[in-house]
Amino acid sequence: MNCLVCRGGIMFESFEAYFAKLDDGYLIIENVPCFKCEQCGEVLFSMAVVEKIEKLILAYEKVQSKIFIVDYRQAA
Ligand SMILES: [Zn+2]
Repeated sequence: MNCLVCRGGIMFESFEAYFAKLDDGYLIIENVPCFKCEQCGEVLFSMAVVEKIEKLILAYEKVQSKIFIVDYRQAA
């Protein structure tokens, strides 16, 4: 798969931290599986991963705290 941003790079499987802004804080999800461009560093998440992230964001928005750090491998 070629990168959609720089078009020259190859996307390889990787893990990245995902940062989400909540209504009243931040959620950081570590080790999220993704595809990353070897050339420009663009990160792409699959639809299944995006859906899981959205569920996590909804769940954590209800909790009264400012910053969360979650490991995707344990939360998924
Ligand atoms: Zn690229």
